[in-house]
Amino acid sequence: MDFLPKKFTDTLTGLPGMDLAAFLRIHEAGEKITSLRINPNKLQEDAAVQKVLQSLTATTVSRVPWSQYGYYLPVRPSFTFDPFFHAGAYYVQEASSMFVEQAMRHTCDLNAPLKVLDLCAAPGGKSTLLQSLISTDSVLVSNEVIKSRAALLGDNLSKWGGANVVVTNNDPRDFGRLPGYFDVMVIDAPCSGSGLFRRDPEAVSEWSPENVILCSQRQQRILADAWGALKEDGILIYATCSYSKEEDEEIMEWIQEHLSAKNIPIPVSEDWHIVTTTAGPQQAEGYRFYPDKVKGEGFFITCFRKTSGDVYTAKKHRDSITPVAKKDQEKVAQWIKSLDNLFLMDHQGEVLIFPENMMPVVSLLQQHLYLRKAGVKAGQLAAKELIPDHQLAMSTMVRETIPQVMLTREQSLRYLRKEDPEVTTDVKGWALMMYEGMALGWAKILPNRINNYYPKELRILKEV
Ligand code: SAM
Repeated sequence: MDFLPKKFTDTLTGLPGMDLAAFLRIHEAGEKITSLRINPNKLQEDAAVQKVLQSLTATTVSRVPWSQYGYYLPVRPSFTFDPFFHAGAYYVQEASSMFVEQAMRHTCDLNAPLKVLDLCAAPGGKSTLLQSLISTDSVLVSNEVIKSRAALLGDNLSKWGGANVVVTNNDPRDFGRLPGYFDVMVIDAPCSGSGLFRRDPEAVSEWSPENVILCSQRQQRILADAWGALKEDGILIYATCSYSKEEDEEIMEWIQEHLSAKNIPIPVSEDWHIVTTTAGPQQAEGYRFYPDKVKGEGFFITCFRKTSGDVYTAKKHRDSITPVAKKDQEKVAQWIKSLDNLFLMDHQGEVLIFPENMMPVVSLLQQHLYLRKAGVKAGQLAAKELIPDHQLAMSTMVRETIPQVMLTREQSLRYLRKEDPEVTTDVKGWALMMYEGMALGWAKILPNRINNYYPKELRILKEV
């Protein structure tokens, strides 16, 4: 085995469920598995899902067994040149990590209004999945500590379109300011990354036993720092993409030793070939995904319930939120299907829209954390009108009466490159550019030209 160094393979011997020969063979074969998860906010009918999948592959797709929304594609298409990708029809996600769905389904009442924190969230794979699973009266707080990655996380969640999301850019310890606040905390921890070696052989050179130890210590620190923000009875979902026991079983042991938490086993079907591993005085269960056993990459996940701690009680605090003035509300209403149960926030002339029940959450988070995004940015208030924002185009809120221009695939790609889509239309003024029934963004149609409002930073740069 060439590309997996001995210092790494030596650490694999004796890991629960490890079949080293099969593991090495599968890495040598280097098969690339492509999977994606469709966006149920945007593709509600099965026919719409099928249309998107058929546009990606001529042959049949198969389902990811542990996710309602996950599919395997037989070959990897160019997602960059697929307008559906830019419309937020799906998220390209490694299949094993979609198991977070099982963890959520077996530990939470997904119909209840939950406050969910995804602590290490960029680029947004787990967050987009969590947003698809929670109810519309739940809130997802999706956090990323690294600023540039938080920007990418914001873009991906905007494209996903849900209004019940807040994106923050904070260190885990900052969440200590919100004792007992969250019902669910997902920690998809930064790790040594060995689970992705098959997909990304280059990453092997960065692996070292010393880094595994550093990662394990950092994982403990993240857990310890953020733990207080989980309420009593709240759920912790901890995951890594590492095979190292220091980052998996030993973290389960550490949790049992240092935090008041009771393990929650997750049922796994035998046909899924996921390995159940146990550790610590509770014989807590965790789940290992090996690429020679499952159709996916290396992954580890475990779930705990917090047995004692704070439960957040709302304190009187200065409301930090300014509602959009009455006189401006009509400018916004023209764009939106219905303002029922929605709150319109004025953030320095920008209008942010989110469910009314999220108002106290945004208000509180704004006082304690650095918010990158809250709800859907509808646009910028100008003297006479609202200048619509790309987030509004990506949401599912836009009024049906707003003009739409249907683009072909080629026109869509020109639009997504921020070029002139070269379309003839009778529409005048602001319009949604559409591909096969899905919005791509805004354009303003003038008598002799089309102004393309696709965000510059998102445009396709790659040549075919
Ligand atoms: N959950 C993401 C997804 O599904 O797309 C992947 C998260 S990745 C495994 C771990 C994330 O933790 C990275 O985005 C990384 O920037 C972030 N991170 C790095 N150091 C951190 C720290 N000290 N505290 C919290 N997060 C950290």
